Amino acid sequence: MQSVRAYIGIGSNLDDPMAQVQRALQALDDLPACTGVARSSLYRTAPVGGPPGQPDYINVVAALDTMLTPDELLNALQALETAQGRVRTVRWGARTLDLDVLLYGQMIRNDPWLTLPHPRLHQRTFVLYPLHDIDPLLSIPGQGTLAELLASCPFQAIVRLDQPLTFNL
Ligand code: ATP
Ligand code: CA
Ligand code: CA
Repeated sequence: MQSVRAYIGIGSNLDDPMAQVQRALQALDDLPACTGVARSSLYRTAPVGGPPGQPDYINVVAALDTMLTPDELLNALQALETAQGRVRTVRWGARTLDLDVLLYGQMIRNDPWLTLPHPRLHQRTFVLYPLHDIDPLLSIPGQGTLAELLASCPFQAIVRLDQPLTFNL
């Protein structure tokens, strides 16, 4: 079986978010049948949606090459969230760790358990800018190019904190 390039959106705004996302990046690379390829810059972003008064987020996107199926990947991500103390309370509430499958190759899938590409990807600068760091020419299946999506995305406060990194290229 050939590996598939998957993009994982990582976010945290509780319990030392910078440490949480660094730990998550390492944990993703350590997953069985997954190899970390690159990560975007780290970003500080204002919360979008959810209850008012939440702390800012740290966001980053990781590119992985994986032999896991999409369902196995999501299960693995949810186990990592739990291992890092994620507690699900209110929708879009503060969390130690959120791991979303943004893209799994070119797969399009309309299933509430796992929708691909991630259904709100195109509305979120905190996902579009990091994806752009890793591959500016990326095209999002069914949605358009990153450049088109960035041009039509509503303004959200976002600050780049460092430079992107590539690993096993
Ligand atoms: P959002 O999905 O708007 O980013 P969220 O990340 O806070 O919000 P969660 O509570 O983490 O939402 O996830 C709710 C459910 O979304 C999960 O139980 C999962 O089954 C489902 N889901 C659907 N598509 C995806 C995807 N592409 N990546 C991760 N979870 C997904
Ligand atoms: Ca999310
Ligand atoms: Ca999620």
